[in-house]
Amino acid sequence: MDDCIIIGAGPAGLTAAIYLARFHLDIRLFDCGTSRAALIPQTHNHAGFPQGISGTDLLARMLEQAQRYGAARELARVTAVQPEEDGFRVEVEGQRYRARSVLLATGVINNRPPGMADDLHALALSRGLLRYCPICDGYEATDQRIGVIGSGGHGMREAIFLRGYSRDVTLIAPEAEHDLDSDCQAALDAAGVARIDGPCGGYGIEDGRIALDTARGRMTFDTMYPALGSRIRSELAIAAGARGDDSGCLEVDDHQRTSIPGLFAAGDVVKGLDQISHAMGEGGVAATTIRNMLAEQRPLRR
Ligand SMILES: Cc1cc2nc3c(=O)[nH]c(=O)nc-3n(C[C@H](O)[C@H](O)[C@H](O)COP(=O)(O)OP(=O)(O)OC[C@H]3O[C@@H](n4cnc5c(N)ncnc54)[C@H](O)[C@@H]3O)c2cc1C
Repeated sequence: MDDCIIIGAGPAGLTAAIYLARFHLDIRLFDCGTSRAALIPQTHNHAGFPQGISGTDLLARMLEQAQRYGAARELARVTAVQPEEDGFRVEVEGQRYRARSVLLATGVINNRPPGMADDLHALALSRGLLRYCPICDGYEATDQRIGVIGSGGHGMREAIFLRGYSRDVTLIAPEAEHDLDSDCQAALDAAGVARIDGPCGGYGIEDGRIALDTARGRMTFDTMYPALGSRIRSELAIAAGARGDDSGCLEVDDHQRTSIPGLFAAGDVVKGLDQISHAMGEGGVAATTIRNMLAEQRPLRR
């Protein structure tokens, strides 16, 4: 019986692993190797790295720090979490484990532009021609020609946010025509955001820019932001009975407790700011709450 099983070794899960290992607790850390942070070519808004740091380097440093205190990342996908009388049963690729507590730090997956090939997606991301997070890297797109693939309220909000960085922002409908009500249209007009109908397709890199087909023919941009939503990886907790909101984000209290006693959640899978700093903060809060909960169940003494 472990003290805690952490599911997910992104910034949230790794921070929790560092804390819990340093609390002298017995933990397991399962991860299936698809952290959103691994997609970051270079983060410049994460404090402490004035020259920036790549997502993979940051994750490697955090893993090394967790391992220094005895935490080991096991590369495996967790398939079920089942509450039991005195804790949880966790199923991992045919194996079963038991733990007094579980921390879900499984993150989210951004929806990609439909039809964009994987190798082009990776290349465009690495060159800053494709971006997913205006809060993170809008600064790097300052005064660039920016395309936003999206529509509706979400597309409108992302395009207007990016107007804070550039005068040249175009909102491109992913499918055929834009789906924008009169309020959205008025807001876009007031901000001076251009609109172009889709369908989008035929993505490529041409003369160092990201290119795509639209209803107005082929267009190129310095950088492109898909605003197509994301898939919240909360299914393990929801299946176990935890409460989530309409989008699938898990509901937690101020101490990262879900609605199921002993089941905690941290990072992007919880509603809030989808940022490394926030994921780390929630990981630290969750770990400390778990430690104190376990100490109430039995004294934690050397
Ligand atoms: C292109 C891009 C650029 C970004 N730039 C920045 C930036 O500059 N600054 C910033 O602060 N943020 C940035 N972000 C956001 C940042 O990456 C996320 O906020 C952060 O990674 C969230 O951490 P997390 O631990 O919650 O989730 P993640 O990092 O996504 O980690 C979740 C982990 O859970 C694992 N997992 C999921 N399901 C299972 C399962 N069933 N079993 C086992 N393991 C599982 C996954 O493999 C993954 O490793 C960026 C995101 C993207 C996509």
